Amino acid sequence: KDFRNQVKPNWCPGCGDFSVQAAIQRAAANVGLEPHELAVISGIGCSGRISGYINSYGFHGIHGRALPIAQGVKMANKELTVIAAGGDGDGFAIGTGHTIHSIRRNIDITYIVMDNQIYGLTKGQTSPRSEVGFQTKSTPKGSIESPLSVIEMALTAGATFVAQSFSTDLKELTSLIEQGITHKGFAFINVFSPCVTYNKINTYDWFKENLTKLSDIDGYDSSNRIQAMQTVMEHNGLVTGLIYQNKEQPSYQELIDGYSEEPLSKADLRISEEKFNELISEFM
Ligand code: SF4
Repeated sequence: KDFRNQVKPNWCPGCGDFSVQAAIQRAAANVGLEPHELAVISGIGCSGRISGYINSYGFHGIHGRALPIAQGVKMANKELTVIAAGGDGDGFAIGTGHTIHSIRRNIDITYIVMDNQIYGLTKGQTSPRSEVGFQTKSTPKGSIESPLSVIEMALTAGATFVAQSFSTDLKELTSLIEQGITHKGFAFINVFSPCVTYNKINTYDWFKENLTKLSDIDGYDSSNRIQAMQTVMEHNGLVTGLIYQNKEQPSYQELIDGYSEEPLSKADLRISEEKFNELISEFM
């Protein structure tokens, strides 16, 4: 059950993505998966490289499209555990539509966003998660746009599992990924994963000073969606832990008649010439 491979990540020393890689590898082993039972599908960006750094099936897709590919993989082979991964530019800019619709569709996969509030791969431009006033090469006078509140967005879109963590908290992050993998439905996990090279504002120290652990809030109930929304808003989105989980809602797959039969990838989908001609005649 070793999910490490021989590929050396080319992330900058100190990048938060190293911990996310380690957490995925540990979580997969802890839930008892074998490498051939896991598929990691990623988008484009520094974090998108992660699918090549884990000993599992992997697919490095195109910008903002990790989720359509990941959902297709799961629908074709339900026996695989599927993790989609990418950055905040990937999931909350070009891929926002896929993120929202994947959340409400509730297909049984886990989506991990490495949120560093900047575009790292293209050398430091403002992302949809950058704070107002954030100065980069693309916003030399400071960003005048409000950042997207992604946890509120996920809760509003009907998420059945929402969590957030900080890449230095490997224990919590590993546990949340384990819970996401075993959740029956779409699990959304946003991870603050600092870009040490280009983001000099949202640093490790900044997060340590500003994050609140939900486990430190008396009486917090992760099954209460209204309390989840209120708490997230009160803390300006800067909370970590399991924010919300709905264990009652069936996943997309559970609502499909016949889905419990053999995976599509193993089914014989060939049809007879007679049947083929019959289908074609409907379009003539
Ligand atoms: Fe990580 Fe930033 Fe370096 Fe990219 S540029 S590898 S996000 S530290």
